[in-house]
Amino acid sequence: MNITWSSRFRVVRLIQVLIAMAVGIHVPAFGQAAMMDLLPNGPASERINIVILSEGYTAAELAQFRTDATNTLAALFSNSPLSGYQEHFNAFAISVASAESGSDHPSRGIYRNTYFGSSYDNAGIARYLTVPQRQPVYDILYQFIPQYDIVVILVNDTEYGGSGGRFMTISKHSLTLEIARHELGHAFASLGDEYTTGESSGYELPNATQILNRSLTPWKSWIADATAVPTPVSPTNDTSVGLFEGAHYNAAGWYRPKSNCKMRTLGVDYCEVCKEALVKAIYAQSSPLRSQEPAAFLANLVAASSQTFRVKTTTPPSRPMEIRWILNGSPMSETGSNLVLSAAQLNPGTNYLQVNVADRTSLVRSDPTALLQASSTWQVVLEASSQIRLERPTRLQDGRLVFNVVGKAANGMRIETSSNMTTWTPVATYGPMDGTFSITNSPANGSITIMRAVSLP
Ligand SMILES: [Zn+2]
Repeated sequence: MNITWSSRFRVVRLIQVLIAMAVGIHVPAFGQAAMMDLLPNGPASERINIVILSEGYTAAELAQFRTDATNTLAALFSNSPLSGYQEHFNAFAISVASAESGSDHPSRGIYRNTYFGSSYDNAGIARYLTVPQRQPVYDILYQFIPQYDIVVILVNDTEYGGSGGRFMTISKHSLTLEIARHELGHAFASLGDEYTTGESSGYELPNATQILNRSLTPWKSWIADATAVPTPVSPTNDTSVGLFEGAHYNAAGWYRPKSNCKMRTLGVDYCEVCKEALVKAIYAQSSPLRSQEPAAFLANLVAASSQTFRVKTTTPPSRPMEIRWILNGSPMSETGSNLVLSAAQLNPGTNYLQVNVADRTSLVRSDPTALLQASSTWQVVLEASSQIRLERPTRLQDGRLVFNVVGKAANGMRIETSSNMTTWTPVATYGPMDGTFSITNSPANGSITIMRAVSLP
């Protein structure tokens, strides 16, 4: 019998797979992995990180994988609500070569030697494409991006197929992108299936409930008074949110929010309730407030001067971010991202300036834990008796601080530090001054965060 190298390899590979299955591990086949940024939007610790992994791409096909991954990402963001919230996400493509192209189709006797060992025909269902052994996936994720949130294993096979769970597995068939969007609802926003076949967990879900009571249902803010409950499936109710019987793998006793939804039928939009859950899931991991200036809790000592406070926020899709400034508990009229606060607006001593930002999107009607909001507070001290002020310090590379004291101190002045705004420790005393006096503190002390200048009596 004439055995080709290719078929010999397959025999060896089959033995490898059988041994691996026997001991419960998958043996990755070949490949040095590399990661590429597809959508850089900030530190991984502060964003939602999507990772797309190559499976069944040979080394020669990895350039194609990067194109496929880019297209997959674009497809994930092509629908509301994710389309409007892209800046909350990072995305990465991890390419790792497989020895052979494609995926296993055991029902047709087709086996491919691939890095993650993906296979169709799981549980006797041809389109059920998955990666049976997860450890190689975890190994790659921990190596490159341990802060992963959403994982898509992109299988280089054009036959329709996919599956969800902790990791999404999808093929290159164009319709599988809808599987990815549907599975994202499960993996990212804990949404349930709104169809009726399958095995129910029995748990209440953001979009499936057993409670047939409009005032108790989790999505009560979406049900109009005129909508009947339970809500019959009829053309007049097609666009209504209500309590439609049949959801979460049960034809009876469980209710879904809308006649149809992406969590029930591929190709349909997410319903209002599922969109709301997705937006809240985004904000649960990524704040609408990006940064504030000054960054420190104690802004400065303000005397006869002014200080600018700034916030940087994300940009919600439907309405501008609401920004409210509150000084000592009283709302101010300013609504912009910058606020110039003058000494005349402050009380002598300690003042508190707060800024609240909120996404008032119409996609969310119920936000009891204020996920769509964020705030920041500064303590602003006005030294009423002092005619001097300390300008914001800059830190030298060696850790020392350089700052100016500005104003008039006829009897001299003292620099003090504190870690708690209660106890102040003198660090240096200077003679009379009038104008600007520059100080570089020495020795270096990297731990000092709060300083003030006090004029001597
Ligand atoms: Zn839905």
